[in-house]
Amino acid sequence: MRGVGKVNVVGRNSFPQFPAHFVPCRPHLTAMFVKDYWENKPHIMRELRAVTSAHSLAVDHQRKVVKRTLGSGIVGSGGQTFTICGDLGVICGVYVVPDTGLSWTKDAMEEVVDRHKTNGRVPPYLYVDCGCCGSTSSTTSVAASWRSMFSVKLDAMHLMLRIGREMNAEHPRRKKFLSDLSQAIFIQHKGDLEALMEARAAARLVGPPTRTERYKFLRRVVGEPEAVAERMMIVLNAHRELDCQSRNQAKAAGLNVDDVTVADIAYPLISKRVMDVFQRQLIHVRNGCLSDDPQHLPYVCVGKLDFHSTGRILLHYQSLRGTSKVEAVHSVLDRTFYSQRGIGSEVFDARLGWWITGYNRRRYRALGFKVPPDSMSPKVFYYGFS
Ligand SMILES: [Zn+2]
Repeated sequence: MRGVGKVNVVGRNSFPQFPAHFVPCRPHLTAMFVKDYWENKPHIMRELRAVTSAHSLAVDHQRKVVKRTLGSGIVGSGGQTFTICGDLGVICGVYVVPDTGLSWTKDAMEEVVDRHKTNGRVPPYLYVDCGCCGSTSSTTSVAASWRSMFSVKLDAMHLMLRIGREMNAEHPRRKKFLSDLSQAIFIQHKGDLEALMEARAAARLVGPPTRTERYKFLRRVVGEPEAVAERMMIVLNAHRELDCQSRNQAKAAGLNVDDVTVADIAYPLISKRVMDVFQRQLIHVRNGCLSDDPQHLPYVCVGKLDFHSTGRILLHYQSLRGTSKVEAVHSVLDRTFYSQRGIGSEVFDARLGWWITGYNRRRYRALGFKVPPDSMSPKVFYYGFS
């Protein structure tokens, strides 16, 4: 025991400096990340190919994310991401295209259709952000090419966006107008409303249904084309009338009403440009681009609930509607790439590939499916840890 003591324990020479070259530099890490992606890519693609949809596909273009890459040399400065989503917001694919032309999206759509054919059946509906019917761009749009295979629908959110874009963003009545327009397009399902009101009466609840109840138990339907167009016109005329009243009030107050700017009280919400775009959207409504098929409403029943233990069973619905699901994907994708600037196409590919895998797994997990843990790569999942 003689040799053991303070001197022997702490009297050692200090450790040598940690060699700086042991710390991987940034380009090295990026290279490893890309190499790892290339090894995983076939398995990531296989996992993606397993993603299918039963009711509808939704397609949409977005500019934002591509702007953060150095991809303009490859796809040009007008590059966009083209996203195909399935029911309940799962991603069937995200592709970078030079513009909204058909030739770029054809391969992507063909692969997605082919994977559905392999797995059984192609979903009957296709929701689009542009080119739903006989507009000028229809000959080159995704919709025109796939009209024989799908019933093509224009997403109502996009229709309202087109009108909203033409309005003065600061106008005090803009929000009200868009909300009125939404209520004119979507109506509550009669049967669902009756069942809910009966259940509420049985539970001795008074007043209108709460927001949560509406969201869970009431389906919203886009009705017959002519009826929808008529309700939209009523909203438009009501707001034109209000514009007229504001103008008269301003006139009565001695203000100039002929040469108004957007800051003036007499500035109309329904300007000439709004009227023009509104008329163009009515064509889509009348062509039935918006209307739901009453036999196949875009909803899925995800459960049954005994309402407040009254014995009244209500069905819990989830919407399968349109490209608003793609908008949700775009917003998350945008946030993911927000801090990035000028990334190369290979790194972009790698990040996008991993991001889609993670997004879909989280989505499926939330829907109650069994999926591999996020930390397990598709390659390890296929081969095991070897
Ligand atoms: Zn249309």
